[in-house]
Amino acid sequence: MAKFYKILTVWYQENKRDLPWRAKTDPYFVWVSEIILQQTRVEQGTAYFLRFIDLFPDVNSLAIAPENEVLKVWQGLGYYSRARNMHLAARQIMNEFGGVFPDTYINIVRLKGVGNYTAAAIASIAFGLPYAAVDGNVYRVLSRVYGISTPIDSTQGKKEFSDLANQLLDQQNPGLFNEALMEFGALQCVPKNPDCLRCPFQDQCIAFARNEIAMLPVKSKQIKVKKRFFNYLVVRHEGYFYLEKREENDIWRNLFQFPLIESSKALTIAELINDEKFTTLFKGNKIAIDSFSPEVLHVLTHQKLFVRFIEITIQNPEPDHSWIRIHPNEVAEYPIPKVIDNYLLSKSLNKLSQ
Ligand code: SF4
Repeated sequence: MAKFYKILTVWYQENKRDLPWRAKTDPYFVWVSEIILQQTRVEQGTAYFLRFIDLFPDVNSLAIAPENEVLKVWQGLGYYSRARNMHLAARQIMNEFGGVFPDTYINIVRLKGVGNYTAAAIASIAFGLPYAAVDGNVYRVLSRVYGISTPIDSTQGKKEFSDLANQLLDQQNPGLFNEALMEFGALQCVPKNPDCLRCPFQDQCIAFARNEIAMLPVKSKQIKVKKRFFNYLVVRHEGYFYLEKREENDIWRNLFQFPLIESSKALTIAELINDEKFTTLFKGNKIAIDSFSPEVLHVLTHQKLFVRFIEITIQNPEPDHSWIRIHPNEVAEYPIPKVIDNYLLSKSLNKLSQ
């Protein structure tokens, strides 16, 4: 166990990246960085982290911010529930913990959106508490070095890897151990074609000895990818256009989008204008279809979205009262999904309103 820690920390001192959240062990900074880095590469996450702490430098500033502002800073990162939960957790810290970040694992894990991994990372890095943080990088390193083929997404696998990580954990320096192990997985023991010949664990790595690197770690469940077809209506009237808020329990909740007709398959323009939802929306209004975009593929972890934008000019304003009529200059105030942002960037905003 001590040997593992020694090899790991020597490697870490020589290879660790100089990342902005490592400058401090403030629990707020550790929390923000850990949440941003879930499902996000460090290169992309760093810019978001810096912008986030610039706007919300502490728990209180995050707690009092309007949700739209928090989602706007998050725009483009995806997994927006992370931002909504952080916002709620900041309010929880103000209300339940007197504005002071909780300093025990039990209280940290009670925060909205904080699971075992994030709680262990904050507890160990910010407070020096002995909890091993087991993320995807750690599963990969441990499964390979110790030749463990128990599926990492099974209850048994989660327990086995967590127990092993806690046995290996250096009790005196748990934060350093966790950061080093995650960094080792991110830089050295990477998912595909790791550079094993230059790895300090090569002598003891079971996967390397058995040539099983590509097979580990094992996952039992295949992620099912759902196909969805989004027809966005870019409805224009006298220099304005319309947005609606996504309020259902679905992707992009509380973000804003063009009015949407979702269909079970790709629709032609004729099928769309004869669709019941479409005819109901524009009943009694004179409309002109200005354009029908090619299909754009937008890939999320569990979903493939096939997206079209249909530009429509209407004669009477406010065809649906849940829509928000906005001027192109105001769109920057609204958090919007990346696929819509990309569309807006591809257009001149002035043209959009014509
Ligand atoms: S030898 Fe290869 S597979 Fe084993 S820990 Fe090192 S990089 Fe990972």
